[in-house]
Amino acid sequence: MDAAEFRKRGKEMVDYVADYLEKIDKRQVFPDVEPGYLRPLIPDCAPQDPESFEDVFKDIEKIIMPGVTHWHSPYFFAYFPSASSFPALLADILCGGIGCVGFSWAASPACTELETVMLDWLGKMINLPEEFLAGKDGQGGGVIQGSASEATLISLLAARTKTIRRVQSENPELTEADIMGRLVAYASDQAHSSVERAALIGGVKIKNVSSDDKFTVCGSALKKVLDEDKASGLIPFFFCATLGTTPCCSFDRLLELGPICNKENIWMHIDAAYAGSAFICPEFRHLLNGVEFADSFNFNPHKWLLVNFDCSAMWVKKRSDLIGAFKLEPLYLQHHHQERSQQCNVNMWCKFLHNFLTRVYHLKGACPYHLPYLILFLEWVMLICVCCGLTPPAGKHHTAACSPSALPLWDGGENQGNEACGLR
Ligand SMILES: *Cc1c(COP(=O)(O)O)cnc(C)c1O
Repeated sequence: MDAAEFRKRGKEMVDYVADYLEKIDKRQVFPDVEPGYLRPLIPDCAPQDPESFEDVFKDIEKIIMPGVTHWHSPYFFAYFPSASSFPALLADILCGGIGCVGFSWAASPACTELETVMLDWLGKMINLPEEFLAGKDGQGGGVIQGSASEATLISLLAARTKTIRRVQSENPELTEADIMGRLVAYASDQAHSSVERAALIGGVKIKNVSSDDKFTVCGSALKKVLDEDKASGLIPFFFCATLGTTPCCSFDRLLELGPICNKENIWMHIDAAYAGSAFICPEFRHLLNGVEFADSFNFNPHKWLLVNFDCSAMWVKKRSDLIGAFKLEPLYLQHHHQERSQQCNVNMWCKFLHNFLTRVYHLKGACPYHLPYLILFLEWVMLICVCCGLTPPAGKHHTAACSPSALPLWDGGENQGNEACGLR
C-alpha cells in the first residue's frame, strides 16, 4: 500500500467507523456465537499471496463483527463503561503515524514532555495536591500506564524496594530474602482482584481488611490488623485504598487511613480506576479528600473520560521512588541530555490524545458530561431493581454497573437482564 492508496483506504475506514458508531444501536449487543466460532471461518495459516484490501475489508462484517460485543452500544450495561470519542480515535491515527517508541527523553522528546505536561493538566482538573504534579521542578508527577492493574503493581514494587532498603539500613544483618518473607500488603475485602495479583507477582503476602456495613474500610479496621501483624513479626509495607470499588462503588475512608499509613511507613496507593473521572466535578471532589496522605494515585480515563482503551493515569508524590526502584541505564540508551531529562523521563509511552481530548472537550465540558450520566445511571439501577425484584443498593454510591442479571453471561446465558427490562 502506498501513500495514495493509504489516503483512499483511510477515508473509507473513517467512514466505516463513523457509520459503525452512528448505527451501533441497531446491532445486537452480545453476539450469538459459540466458543470457537472464528477458527473455521478463516484459513489455518497466513496467505502465501497478497489479498486485495477490498477482500480483507469485507471480512470485517463477515467474520469479525458477528463475534464482537458492542461495548459502545447504548444498550451495553455489563462490566463498566469503556470510553471512546472521535477526537481520541483521530489522535490514535496520529500516534500510529508518528509511531515512535518513547523509552527515553531522547527517543522522542515531545513524547515524554507532552505526557508529563498533560498529566499535570489532568491532575489539576481533579484538584490533586501540588505535590503530585511535576511542574517545572516538582518531585512528583504523572505517568500513563496501560491499566490500573499495572499502576497497582508498579506502586507495590516501588514500595517493596523502598521498604527493603529502609529495613536493611536499620538492620544491616537482615538479607533481602529475610525481609521479603515478612512483608505484608493490605487492601479492602472489596478491592479489585488486581491488587491480590500484584502481591502474587511481587512475591509478598497480602491480607484483606474487613469493610464495614457500607463496604468501606475505616481506620480502626486497618489499625487492628496492623497491630496483630506487627506483634507477630510481619512488616506491613503497602495499603491499597479503593475509591469506587468494583462490586458496589464504595469509598474507603482516606482521612482515617492516610495518617495511619504515614505514621507506620506504609505506602498508600489509591485505586480510583473507575470513579476517578468523577472528581473533575466539584460535587464529587470531596470523595478524594485525604489523597494528600497517599504516595500514589491512579484512575482510568479509558473507563469514563472519553479516551479509548488503554489509558490509565498514575501520579506519584516522589518520582524518585519509582526511578529508584526501576532505574536501569544500559549504555545504548544513554544520551547527552541524560541529567536534565531525568526531570521528565518517565520512560513510558505517550498518547497524544490527552492533549487532543482535553482541548476539544475542555474542563467545562467534562462536568456536564458526567452529571447526566450519573443521573441516568441511578435511574437505571432503580429500573433494574424494580424489574428483577431486587432491593436497591444502600447508600449514595454513584455506580458500578455490574449486576450479574444484566450481564451477557459467557456461560451461554442470554442478555436476560436487559431483555427482562425491555432494554434490548
Ligand atoms: C476497572 C478497575 C480495575 C482494573 O482496571 P484495569 O485498567 O483493567 O486494570 C481496578 N480497580 C478498580 C476499582 C476498577 O474499577
